[in-house]
Amino acid sequence: MIKQLLLAPGPTPVPARVRAAIARPIIHHRTPQFGQLFGRAREGLRELFGTASDVVTLSASGTGAMEAAIVNCFAPGDKVLVVNGGKFGERWLKLAQTYSLVPIELRVEWGHAVKVDDVERVLGENPDIRGVLIQGSETSTTACHPVEQIAALTRTRDVLLVVDGITAVGVYDVPMDKWGIDVLVTGSQKAMMLPPGLAFIALSDRAWQRAASVCQPRFYFDLARERASQAKNSTAYTPAISLIFGLDEALTMMREEGYPRIYARHARCAQATRAAATALGLKLLAPDSPSPAATGAFMPEGVDGGKLHGYLRDKMGVAFAGGQDHLKGKILRIAHIGYMGAFDTIDAVAALEMALRHFGHPVELGRGVGAAQEVLMSALPD
Ligand SMILES: *Cc1c(COP(=O)(O)O)cnc(C)c1O
Repeated sequence: MIKQLLLAPGPTPVPARVRAAIARPIIHHRTPQFGQLFGRAREGLRELFGTASDVVTLSASGTGAMEAAIVNCFAPGDKVLVVNGGKFGERWLKLAQTYSLVPIELRVEWGHAVKVDDVERVLGENPDIRGVLIQGSETSTTACHPVEQIAALTRTRDVLLVVDGITAVGVYDVPMDKWGIDVLVTGSQKAMMLPPGLAFIALSDRAWQRAASVCQPRFYFDLARERASQAKNSTAYTPAISLIFGLDEALTMMREEGYPRIYARHARCAQATRAAATALGLKLLAPDSPSPAATGAFMPEGVDGGKLHGYLRDKMGVAFAGGQDHLKGKILRIAHIGYMGAFDTIDAVAALEMALRHFGHPVELGRGVGAAQEVLMSALPD
């Protein structure tokens, strides 16, 4: 037996309380019992999103909610600005192309944040842009984009700001209404301590207005229809009932811990991981605007990141994420979201040190762990 430790930025570990809730006997969804539970979860989702609007729950992975954002808010021929700084920015681009929007791509070097000035310039040059599609946290490059500042630009224009918050919502504070985000999307398997299978999407008032006037084929992801059902604590189609049991429990756990404490925990584990990587002489992938969701680090010269990642997973039982596309085999991504804490970070760093040593990189064992501990000491209770 090799004990497994899942430290990838999604799917993430699911706590026993949530797993027990998911294991409960199924109930019928057209019942007062389901309505009561779903109503409570809907309240919790509003709190999580920082919005007074409805948060619509979909049975889909996160990409389903991204697709819902596109088909409800944009018509064929609509010009949109796509911030493309990684695999998930690229996904916005593909979705926009699929539905015949006219994307203007703003490419960002992987590992970096988009510059607000560049967004402002493109918006100025193209006054007919109808939306900005962006990630809060670009999980593939472990960088964060400055969504709050971009919202200040879109708020005063007839431009919808559509944010893929799949590793942002519940990771750090993304107050939708306060910042003026128009469409915010997340998925169950990242910060929400749930298995994959649910996606969530909220629209601002003006985004709902846009949705009412946009002509684009849609059926399962027709958000107006879904919202009308969910306003009555029901769903248009059969919901993923078991996952909604889990959702209710996970939201309860998040409320018990308190969002400020959750965000501080993620930030601290991220800081500790960065300190450890730096102490081990590893170069950070996103040094200037690192995401608190996951830390990406380049593997040292001569160490094959793909082999190291596979060895950690298959021989040591520690699953990190590797790199994609041109970063394949070059980086490792270590997550610190959802049901993860200080000692997952310590485990992560200890395992990384041992694997690096195994692959011939000179590592002073404990150096990274010590650096992480120094950061984590700051949050030890009295
Ligand atoms: C995980 C992730 C997605 C993809 O979600 P799926 O649930 O795999 O469809 C999209 N965007 C970001 C930023 C993610 O981290």
